[in-house]
Amino acid sequence: MFDKVLIANRGEIALRIHRACREMGIRTVAVHSTADNDAMHVRLADEAVCIGPPAAKDSYLNKAAILSAAAITGADAIHPGYGFLSENADFAQMVEEHGFVFIGPSPEHIRMMGDKITAKQAATTAGLPCVPGSDGAVNTEEEALTTAAAIGYPVLIKATAGGGGKGMKVARSAAELKEAWKLARNEAKAAFGNADVYMEKYLQRPRHIEMQILADNYGAVVHLGERDCSLQRRHQKVLEEAPSPALNATQRARIGDVACDAIRRLGYRNAGTLEFLFEDGEFYFIEMNTRLQVEHPITEGITGIDLVREQIRIAAGAPLGYTQTDVRFQGHALECRINAEDPQTFTPSPGLVNGYHAPGGLGVRVDSGLYAGYRIPPHYDSMIAKLIVYGNSRNEALMRLRRALGEYVVDGVKTTLPLHNRLVQDADFVNGDYDIHWLEKFVARNT
Ligand code: ADP
Repeated sequence: MFDKVLIANRGEIALRIHRACREMGIRTVAVHSTADNDAMHVRLADEAVCIGPPAAKDSYLNKAAILSAAAITGADAIHPGYGFLSENADFAQMVEEHGFVFIGPSPEHIRMMGDKITAKQAATTAGLPCVPGSDGAVNTEEEALTTAAAIGYPVLIKATAGGGGKGMKVARSAAELKEAWKLARNEAKAAFGNADVYMEKYLQRPRHIEMQILADNYGAVVHLGERDCSLQRRHQKVLEEAPSPALNATQRARIGDVACDAIRRLGYRNAGTLEFLFEDGEFYFIEMNTRLQVEHPITEGITGIDLVREQIRIAAGAPLGYTQTDVRFQGHALECRINAEDPQTFTPSPGLVNGYHAPGGLGVRVDSGLYAGYRIPPHYDSMIAKLIVYGNSRNEALMRLRRALGEYVVDGVKTTLPLHNRLVQDADFVNGDYDIHWLEKFVARNT
């Protein structure tokens, strides 16, 4: 097992990884920008190294600075968390070339899944059904028009290098397509430095269902059930739950088998998530995330399995040590992503948190680096906390979530807590009756 792990991230996920390491008797190294000198992840780690100025490109994305920090502190392994360098295949490769262990999959798998076109090709070969769409990149306007006509409108244009919902445009007709194709390419170029786009049938009322997978270096693969992440704004997840209220036992068993089988065929190792759209009883693969996900705690809630501990064990060469039948699913879990944003306009609201009280009690977990007196820097993602609740049933978990949201106090900055408070009262949500487009309409009704 490792003696020391460097955590190449910040915020709640850096803390989350630190906690797993601490429980395993592993020492931790935090890295931070000058904007994060007072951050909780820096305070709790055994050692901390400043790796650069506030801009992420000069600090949390600065590969050389992170590798130097690992070298001078004598770390054995690097955990990338999510975001930043977590899905950067070159970084994973550099980590290994410098003699450290990358806590994640192989650079080849990261590369394969990082490009949405090669990912879909690999998924198809591994037996996963995909959303009908173009065979590869759509390079000219004429090609876009013929492909869309073959798929049938509406279509969705997506960036091959995409992530975070950027570079996606819907076209409902040939006239709209010309404009959407250009816009998507420009947005993709600006966001990812790669203008390539592809096309998919735009599904009208799917749910976003994703499967959490764990695979060791010796061919053992299990799934830890699904997460329903359909509550999204601008293609970004807002509230997630597990299990999905939309799946029956047969559908759940089917997607579990299909997912594990695909992971085996791909030869993938460590934790990963296969994302699907689910409509009219059918699953369609959209992408694979080759890292820990923001919403992993809801899976931990219903399985009792510590995903970060498993990632570290697998990376250290330990066998999984259990099979699918050993994985027990129990109860229901929900997670609210709480952002420092205006709950009406969603404009970021960084600044001083002058009062802070987090909820607690049975079945309540708060993953956050917030404390009273902390100044939220303006340079990074606006997510400041995750509130996770568990219950024996969905109803119990919902009651607990309402109760916990009512206790949560963050003073000094605007947060999306009021949005969550309204959401958990809504009849459609309470009935589990929502698809990926539902939340946008809910937000429009309530602002
Ligand atoms: P990203 O990597 O940018 O997050 P994804 O491919 O994971 O992109 O898609 C993000 C979200 O966009 C999905 O959860 C879903 O809500 C929506 N989406 C993606 N593909 C489709 C599609 N073919 N039809 C309808 N919605 C889609």
